[in-house]
Amino acid sequence: MNKKVSERLVCSGRVFASAAALCCLCSTGIAGTVPPVIGISSAVQSATPTSGILTRAELKRIHPNEIGDVLILEYHNILPHPHDPYTSSPDQFRKVMQLLYSLHYRPISMSAYLNNRIDLPAGDSPVIYTFDDADESQYRILPDGQVDPNCAVGLMQAFNKLHPSWRLRGTFFVLPRDAFGQHALRAQKLRNLIHMGYEIGNHTVTHPQLSRLSNTQVQWQIAECDHLIDQLVPGTRVSTMALPYGISPRDRILALHGKYQALRYENRAVLLAGADPAPAVISKKFDALRVPRVQPVKGICGLYFWLKFLKHHSYEQYISDGVASQTTIPRRFAHLVNKARLDGSKLVIY
Ligand SMILES: [Zn+2]
Repeated sequence: MNKKVSERLVCSGRVFASAAALCCLCSTGIAGTVPPVIGISSAVQSATPTSGILTRAELKRIHPNEIGDVLILEYHNILPHPHDPYTSSPDQFRKVMQLLYSLHYRPISMSAYLNNRIDLPAGDSPVIYTFDDADESQYRILPDGQVDPNCAVGLMQAFNKLHPSWRLRGTFFVLPRDAFGQHALRAQKLRNLIHMGYEIGNHTVTHPQLSRLSNTQVQWQIAECDHLIDQLVPGTRVSTMALPYGISPRDRILALHGKYQALRYENRAVLLAGADPAPAVISKKFDALRVPRVQPVKGICGLYFWLKFLKHHSYEQYISDGVASQTTIPRRFAHLVNKARLDGSKLVIY
């Protein structure tokens, strides 16, 4: 579905506050097009990833920050000739993976993020891949049964073969009636994605502007989407939703939980359409009703903008301590910790 152009791209106050400071660091300025790839060096991460409990010296060198911001990428179509800013070519998609890999970003699942169980080597940073609308270009199966190497799933598989630490993780926010185009293969594709390590999210049934619907219609859109996914692949756990156009229902809480007749739904997070890195789940800034994402586009609030921002504000970036059951944060951020969300993880403040 080609609805992306009208999707909201709203940067937080922080973005605009930071833009002036960042402007002098970019050769082209914030308002212009930020050059892709070139100019963002792997020096963003000065540390060599290690593993195990960090020594005092490693803490000093790696600067783990597990209350830092997390990049959640929002993709739509993958087409050879992109016709709008929200479509990527296979080559652009591949280059983003290569760039993120070189900057020590590694894919994690939405569940790991929401559970505060990000399992990465020390010094690495998480990236969460998300895909909206379930376009066929995200996952196409060729007549011979092979995955199209130029669809998103095929591109990620190829990259994973080259770089095993780039795991197959991410969430597909689907419109289940016509998921991934090839109608007869809908259930098989959903099953395959789950088997590969991906998660399935709710993107409603018909992709409406939820603010224009009654409370009953909103609950039908979300409950029925979960129901249709469950009919296709019984037992599929759906616990996140992405708002069509990034627009909340009038009663925002209905995006999180509700029911339609006998169908109940419960989401752990509601994803926006833009345009910031997301707060760590243990941060007091985390709001389950408004989890922001970043689009892989050029210009202000796009991926390259944020990579440059995080390069120059690395203290705002999530950097792993290498121990999934432990949450390590710099002392200056201690006041931001929501201890209720540690979920049993040991808090280490240094
Ligand atoms: Zn959408």
